[in-house]
Amino acid sequence: MLLPRLTCNLLRAPLTESGPPVPEVTVAALAERLEAASRARLGRSLAIRHVGSGSCNGCELEINALSGVVYDLERLGLRFVASPRHADVLLVTGPACRNMTEAVQRAWQCAPEPKWVVAVGDCAVDGGVFRDSYAVEGGVGQVLPVDLVIPGCPPMPGLMLEGLLALVEAQREDAEPQPGPLRNEPEF
Ligand code: SF4
Repeated sequence: MLLPRLTCNLLRAPLTESGPPVPEVTVAALAERLEAASRARLGRSLAIRHVGSGSCNGCELEINALSGVVYDLERLGLRFVASPRHADVLLVTGPACRNMTEAVQRAWQCAPEPKWVVAVGDCAVDGGVFRDSYAVEGGVGQVLPVDLVIPGCPPMPGLMLEGLLALVEAQREDAEPQPGPLRNEPEF
């Protein structure tokens, strides 16, 4: 019984759908521009730290794809770091869960200036599908000063690259990040 089933599974094509085609030239151009912009602004490559504030892990899968074989950001110097103390950008996913508020704010406080907060995914933007939950404050902007929002459920990796590029290019090379409409310094 088992052998025919195993043979059948080995011989038939995968049932999963193929992913959308990746515009490799566009992605490479975006990543190179982002690397150049971060070198001009920071004098080195951009260091990114992911912070989960209660997401379903869908956004994390897309963020992980940035380090995978297709996007492979690290070939250009852009890298994910293990601690917010080494990060320029905090990529925050998920809604602002009440139980995670202190941890997320402590991660933000640990990051050195200049630092930017990017809310990744619909949940981080405004709470998304978890918006009405008793356990959720709303979007990440409720607990952190957000500099950029990247909507989508989940957003594609290319969209994250575009967002990061726009964020870094928008910073003046000779100035610290200025408070903007989305950057309200919180009172922790
Ligand atoms: S935006 Fe979508 S994929 Fe991302 S954490 Fe929310 S529900 Fe999950």
